Amino acid sequence: MKVGIVGCGLVGSATAYAITIRGAASEIVLVDLNAKAAKAQAEDLLHATPFSNPLKIRAGDYNDLTGAKVVILSCGVAQRPGETRLQLLERNVAVFKQVVPSVLKHAADTILLVASNPVDILTQVTAKIARLSPSRVIGSGTILDTARFRTLLGEYLNVSAHSVHASVLGEHGDSEVLVWSSADISGVPIFAFAAQTRREITDEIKAQIDDGVRRAAYRIIEGKGASYFGIGAALSRIVDAIRDDEQAVLTLSSSYSDMDEFTGLSLSLPRVIGAQGISATLMPSLSDEEYTALRKSAGILKAAAQELGF
Ligand code: NAD
Repeated sequence: MKVGIVGCGLVGSATAYAITIRGAASEIVLVDLNAKAAKAQAEDLLHATPFSNPLKIRAGDYNDLTGAKVVILSCGVAQRPGETRLQLLERNVAVFKQVVPSVLKHAADTILLVASNPVDILTQVTAKIARLSPSRVIGSGTILDTARFRTLLGEYLNVSAHSVHASVLGEHGDSEVLVWSSADISGVPIFAFAAQTRREITDEIKAQIDDGVRRAAYRIIEGKGASYFGIGAALSRIVDAIRDDEQAVLTLSSSYSDMDEFTGLSLSLPRVIGAQGISATLMPSLSDEEYTALRKSAGILKAAAQELGF
């Protein structure tokens, strides 16, 4: 399967590396405004293939994306000193207005996978520009936050994160919602599991885990300037699900929803994903408090989209 990546900075290159190591694709094409950097990334990545999987990796232009099943959009501009969030967003919308039609001109049947931030708004913007079925415009959304939540719960409860079923919903950002009420360890509700293993989940522990998830990006950016390994692995996992038509359930951002309340608004809910993109959206059982928080998160995203005129 051929995968395109537009924007081969830290996130784009970490994603290409994760795809290479997992063998999630047979061909990767890297496109960037900085063609020299894309070429260098492709050359460097190619040298990992003898130790991993025999992928074809090259830098190219938009016309090299023809035949790509998935195109990952991790392009964007960085915040300038003194620039507001909205000004940054407007400049990134301008980037997407140029990039999305260029991709679709050569890969009309592709699935667009948005990673650039703010990912929910940019997913919504992409869907609007692309005029594709919302099933084919997917944002990475809270897939990474869900991974962080499962990791921290697993660490605290001393079980593999693979056995932890828990979700983070809503905005990929400050208003995201950690769903504690229906979290479980392979079918055993999380609080029952904690009681049975004598690792009580107190309010203090909940607050620590909440902070560990919600503030992770801030801490990582403060420490090393950017986050990219986690999102690279997450995007490569989404590529797997598409390649193998898995019908996997992942928390992804999309405006694909037939739930009246969230229709037309990109935010993360559990979504079934396979070769055709998203085929269903699920609503997990939520406590009243979690549901209120999800509606609040949706309200924040709606206001941001309206501010931009989308
Ligand atoms: P980066 O600056 O390293 O890379 C961005 C790349 O985009 C650069 O190589 C730049 O040349 C390219 N670019 C800019 N304009 C372009 C255009 N018009 N056409 C083609 N390429 C263009 O940034 P990064 O650290 O890789 O982050 C990329 C995005 O991913 C950011 O928006 C960041 O916030 C986001 N991100 C998302 C998540 C998530 O969970 N979704 C996690 C981490 C980072």
